[in-house]
Amino acid sequence: MSEAAASPRKRLFIRSWGCQMNVYDSGRMADVLAPLGYGPAEGPDAADMVILNTCHIREKASEKLFSELGRLRALKREKEAAGGRMVLAVAGCVAQAEGAEITARAPWVDIVLGPQTYHRLPEMVARASRAAGAVIDTDFPAEAKFDRLPEASAAPQGVTAFLTVQEGCDKFCSFCVVPYTRGAEYSRPAAPVLAEARRLVAQGAREITLLGQNVNAYHGDAPGGGRTWGLGRLLRALAEIPGLERLRYTTSHPRDVDDELVAAHRDLPQLMPFLHLPVQSGSDRVLAAMNRGHTAADFLSVAERLRAARPDLALSSDFIVGHPGERAADFDATLALVREVGFALAYSFKYSPRPGTPAASAPNQVPEAEKDARLQALQALLRDQQEAFNRSLVGRTIPVLVTGTGRHHGQVAGRSPWLNPVHLSASDALIGEVVPVAVLAAHTNSLSGALAAGTATEPPSQRREEPAPA
Ligand code: SF4
Repeated sequence: MSEAAASPRKRLFIRSWGCQMNVYDSGRMADVLAPLGYGPAEGPDAADMVILNTCHIREKASEKLFSELGRLRALKREKEAAGGRMVLAVAGCVAQAEGAEITARAPWVDIVLGPQTYHRLPEMVARASRAAGAVIDTDFPAEAKFDRLPEASAAPQGVTAFLTVQEGCDKFCSFCVVPYTRGAEYSRPAAPVLAEARRLVAQGAREITLLGQNVNAYHGDAPGGGRTWGLGRLLRALAEIPGLERLRYTTSHPRDVDDELVAAHRDLPQLMPFLHLPVQSGSDRVLAAMNRGHTAADFLSVAERLRAARPDLALSSDFIVGHPGERAADFDATLALVREVGFALAYSFKYSPRPGTPAASAPNQVPEAEKDARLQALQALLRDQQEAFNRSLVGRTIPVLVTGTGRHHGQVAGRSPWLNPVHLSASDALIGEVVPVAVLAAHTNSLSGALAAGTATEPPSQRREEPAPA
């Protein structure tokens, strides 16, 4: 830890919305500001600088941002009236997409920065203290931001940690802002990724989740040159780090699941048998309109290959219902795909237009009432599948990574290989250990269990536990 971080002279509060990538980015922004004397603040009231790290994916992202900025304006004024100062920055995808609107509607914002320019934050803070008006930096600079961020992380992440290996996307799905806000696909070279993973393990991480908007498009420079590494090769190298018990990666695209990645699932016990693989729709018509570049059959074939390689693999996915042009028969095809695959977990959303994306201006928008009805039907089916998967674990002994203390005295919390939160009575001396746990009960979103003697066993494959169609 740097001296500045050990005894901070100024306080920084970062609010993150959205995905794990944003949480990771917030950590890196704290890292670059630590040498300027910024340490963590409990909340905005105690902060000399507040960063709102925004996400454009979810609905009403900009309304949420502007209402938060309204609250912070009052706080900033109070501080200034008392002779103090608060630097206010907006970062992330909304900043990238709507930078000009932010400065027009909220002129009390000092800094607007896109996800590719976090390494320039110290310079922007210095400029903001001199400038009248906001400093805006939403470029896609030629130099990669990862190369400019400091190596050492000021704050250890704990037993489970995130590590960004890839950013941006070139796929231009019709509904998605990522190619516009995060820019073209970029992969970090493998050597700094491995170095960061070793550092995280030395700081206590036992599980690392590799992050990227399209993480399995990863193609980073190999250490020492030569051919670039794909994600499968990178996972193999990470699996050799002593003390690193578990690996995961998210978010993946079905088109980028190659043989090397499938083989990694077959060969690496550290690679957890749980994969988030968005399919979005089960209709080939809609998948084509979404510009996904795969069919429903392609997705089924990828799922089969992965399950053949790792029979206990559970799948999670994302669905959008009511994409422009989606008919009842297309939605039925989505339900059919869900029944055929059987998901342990899934996220489903009504299509909502994102400004600047092709689908937003498509003429054949689906009426809201129809979207609502379809979403309810899909979520009922997915909930049944999730509950059935969780029930399939009851009565089994599974390996649980203990991640922290539980809500009640004498309880600890952990994580199953399939990402279920698990609660059990045990000593907090076990934090950081993988222990066998007999699963006693399944709830919709978690499991409860008890420490078991002996070794954990694998659950049956997910498909054998598939519930009856809704
Ligand atoms: S692949 Fe994912 S990140 Fe890329 S455009 Fe499509 S939805 Fe967005």
